[in-house]
Amino acid sequence: MLAARYLAGYPPELIAQAETLRLQGRLASHLAQRLPERHEVRSDVALFDYVNELKSRHMRNAGPLQFVGFDAKLRVLQQALGTHTRRTQVQGARLRTRREIRVATLFKEAPAALLRMIVVHELAHLRELDHDKAFYQLCQHMEPDYFQLEFDLRLYLMHLDQPPGGAAP
Ligand SMILES: [Zn+2]
Repeated sequence: MLAARYLAGYPPELIAQAETLRLQGRLASHLAQRLPERHEVRSDVALFDYVNELKSRHMRNAGPLQFVGFDAKLRVLQQALGTHTRRTQVQGARLRTRREIRVATLFKEAPAALLRMIVVHELAHLRELDHDKAFYQLCQHMEPDYFQLEFDLRLYLMHLDQPPGGAAP
């Protein structure tokens, strides 16, 4: 079941609902309806401006960023999000020491709200290493709809993981 992998740690009912959407081939239309707004952040320069605008609004004291850019090798589910319940330290520790924000290249084409969500996630790691309560509180402070958007991002990643032409059984 593909949904179980993308939604590890979420309640079984939500996983079952997502799997149903996927099997019915309705993930894409569901996401398009929920997240219709697009964005124009396509280059590292544009991403740098976008990230620093959010940072200056919410994390002014975090110190200047040394690097902001898209990264084609970054695996969102494993390296950026981690699982919903478990602590992931490697990514956060690296970001904290080097003050870098790397965003997976797939976000160039993702809905605007999902780009905002992942940037908020990475900005929060400048202050909080782990995916713990303090971390998610900071995410929610920057983006009140954070939890719903992280769920939507997992659906979006699941949608991208499907073979072209429809859902696999
Ligand atoms: Zn993280």
